[in-house]
Amino acid sequence: MGMEKYEFFVRRARNVLTYDPGWSADNRTGAWRAMRPVKDPDKCTDCALCWLFCPDGIIAREGIVIDYAYCKGCGICATECPTGAIRMVPETEEA
Ligand code: SF4
Ligand code: SF4
Repeated sequence: MGMEKYEFFVRRARNVLTYDPGWSADNRTGAWRAMRPVKDPDKCTDCALCWLFCPDGIIAREGIVIDYAYCKGCGICATECPTGAIRMVPETEEA
């Protein structure tokens, strides 16, 4: 492999490798969310399925409160909610 090609691959690798993964407190994934889940308190029966299914564990069990700093907007909570109490809203829209 020529030097030019080698340097190209090293530059590419630096863009995709994570040298210091840190932990969840360092990675506030809410910053790149396109859709956010919004809970309708009138429809919520406090069944806690959203809390159980959220892959990031960022829904507080008490009061079913979503931590938007870490919610990545995957929509699983809205899909699993049996009463349709959570709807996904584009970040460009008001809640
Ligand atoms: S959208 Fe995804 S990350 Fe955000 S609260 Fe729902 S399940 Fe959790
Ligand atoms: S899954 Fe729906 S009804 Fe159940 S606690 Fe979550 S928001 Fe409320």
